[in-house]
Parts: sequence; C-alpha cells; structure tokens
Amino acid sequence: MNATSNFSKVEKDLVVSMDYSLTVDGEIVDSSEDSEPIEFIQGCGNIIPGLEKELYGMSIGDKKSVSVPAAEGYGIYDPEAVMTVGRSEFPSEIPMEQGVEVSIQDEDGEVIVAVIEAFDDETVTLNANHPLAGKDLQFDVTIAGLRAPTAEELEHGHVHSEDDCDCDGDCGCEDGSCGCGS
Ligand code: ZN
Repeated sequence: MNATSNFSKVEKDLVVSMDYSLTVDGEIVDSSEDSEPIEFIQGCGNIIPGLEKELYGMSIGDKKSVSVPAAEGYGIYDPEAVMTVGRSEFPSEIPMEQGVEVSIQDEDGEVIVAVIEAFDDETVTLNANHPLAGKDLQFDVTIAGLRAPTAEELEHGHVHSEDDCDCDGDCGCEDGSCGCGS
C-alpha cells in the first residue's frame, strides 16, 4: 500500500473522516456539524462497534443512517453501577454537587469514573453508568474522506492529529490487541 493511493471504500486500517450526528430519544446530543469531521482508524475500535461495523464498503460522500441498540452502543443500564456511600467516606476536597465526576476504585482495584447523582447530609449516590447507557443510538453519518494511516498511527491504533503523538505509546494497544495492522 502506498500513501498516494486513492481509496474509494471504507476498509480495515484506513483512516476515515466522517461527519456525524447522534440522536438519542429524538434529540441531537452530539454532532460534528459545527466542527471538523471526526477521524478514526477503521477496525481499531476507536468508535463504538455497532457503528463501526456498518461503515465497511461505504464510499466518500455516502450517507447512512445507523441504528445502534444500547447493548452495542454504550451498554445496557446497570442498576448495580449505582452506589450509595457514606458522605463521611468522601474526601472533603471533592465539591459536593450533582454531576461532578469522581474516580473510585471497585472491588478489583480498577479505577472507574462515576458521577454524583444525589446526596444528602449522610449519603452520596454515585452512578458509574455511561450517560448514554441504556439508550438506543441513532447515527446519521457521511463519509468525508479516506486516507492511509501513518506507520505510527497504525502501530498505536489511533489517529494522530499533531505530528508528534503525546500518548507515549500508552494508548493501550501496543500488544496489537486492537487488531490494527494485522
Ligand atoms: Zn499514539
């Protein structure tokens, strides 16, 4: 493959530029309309799987509406991810406000991000569900461009917007587990 090839269709390991809007419950919650198209490496899991798999074979300029059920999007809503902790266990430097994100450790020592959903004098309710968990997603996408990734992008499994990658190789797929380049 050489960098001057013209790519006509979305295929694995190509960098895809894509305009998109995301509609949830009839409302547009995210869109590239007022910004640049997003760029990602197809087949690397940079975008949610339920959308990525629908893009194969699309050409530049093609539009598509893709419905992604919650389970293939941000996951189903997990009632067990809503936790109540004693307010006294809460470090005082964390502002006690609805919607504040906090990092907590689960039983396995994994750090997870949760949002303060409610609180009173004694308890704090934390919700570790993604804000779009349990939601069916409606994407409207247009393929804006296709190019070959640089060798470094392919190795890291993600697009570099600057000349130098600041991920220090810490992008999680040095071991090739994302399947990039294979
Ligand atoms: Zn990188």
